[in-house]
Amino acid sequence: MKPFTCPCSNILFFENTQCLKCGSNVGYDAASDSMKIIEPEGKLKQCANGTQHGVCNWLVPADSANPLCDACQLNRTIPDLSVQGNGERWARMEASKRRVAYSMHHLGLPIIPRTQDAETGLIFDFLQPMPGAPVITGHDFGIITLNMEEADDAIRESNRQKFREPHRSLVGHFRHELAHYYWWVWFEKGTIDIELLNSFREVFGDERQDYGTALNNYYNGGPPSGWQGTHISEYSTAHPWEDWAETWAHYLHMTDALETADTFGLSAGRQHVPVTRFPKESVSLPAPFANVDPGAFMDILYHWAMLTPAINEMSLSLGQRDLYPFVLTPPIVRKLHFIHCAMERVSGKMTEKKPVFNLWSVLRRKAA
Ligand SMILES: [Zn+2]
Ligand SMILES: [Zn+2]
Ligand SMILES: [Zn+2]
Repeated sequence: MKPFTCPCSNILFFENTQCLKCGSNVGYDAASDSMKIIEPEGKLKQCANGTQHGVCNWLVPADSANPLCDACQLNRTIPDLSVQGNGERWARMEASKRRVAYSMHHLGLPIIPRTQDAETGLIFDFLQPMPGAPVITGHDFGIITLNMEEADDAIRESNRQKFREPHRSLVGHFRHELAHYYWWVWFEKGTIDIELLNSFREVFGDERQDYGTALNNYYNGGPPSGWQGTHISEYSTAHPWEDWAETWAHYLHMTDALETADTFGLSAGRQHVPVTRFPKESVSLPAPFANVDPGAFMDILYHWAMLTPAINEMSLSLGQRDLYPFVLTPPIVRKLHFIHCAMERVSGKMTEKKPVFNLWSVLRRKAA
């Protein structure tokens, strides 16, 4: 996430509703990708979920028939606000959702609400579990359900330890479930051709294995030993769909954090870059990406390898745990590359096939 600037020249952040220097009420305008001042008779007004519930700082055109912003239009069910604490929990959920919506927009994959696309649009349901009626966070045919309890820090921390998920977070939930949603849109609703599906199966495994059985096996037996060599998380070993979702979420962690680092001018010494960790074979993919120029992806990987030791040490310096407790191995890197390529292809950012070139020369050039 990048920092923004108020017209008064003060720095503003994505979540701000007021400039602390000039006192103006501000909000995020997705159309111009900037923070704008809300003028009394201006062209922009705050989203109704902001004015009514204090959970949104995005703006909508003042003459818009829909009082909700692009992110809030995705909601079908909002939480029961008569439950004590749900207002704060919902605000945390929405803040995370907006971050992820921002990322997807910037990746060229804007999230379309079901109200605009009855076939493949997305819906969010924020549900409060009740005795005898549990809520399972998940995706199903374009509907993402969020269990409101996850926005409770104590409950989420308890789940984080119970499920051995070092990175369990609200933003992570949105990224993970969106991955399932895009898989559904691309592979089941048929945006993507069979060649890519075959490629997916070669990289992540065959998703036609029974999902329910696979999950049961995972919860009963845990991950296979040595999973760290091939999977980004324990849970990603449960089924190829979960591997896709976990790896996709990880790719978004990387690209969002790199945007933050780039725009805040953070960088770490290149002497820490383990350039030899990823041999050429680690990123080569089957068709349709067999001849894709991996330069852009290697750039991401290179900067990531440069940044992560620094952010871990920064976090430890501040008395916190490692911010990035992961090790990227060649098989994981290859999956990340697949996701990078699939996103580029669908968003139309992928340039035409280029001749294969020697990755090592790129790495050496970077390291020089
Ligand atoms: Zn200002
Ligand atoms: Zn909103
Ligand atoms: Zn999942």
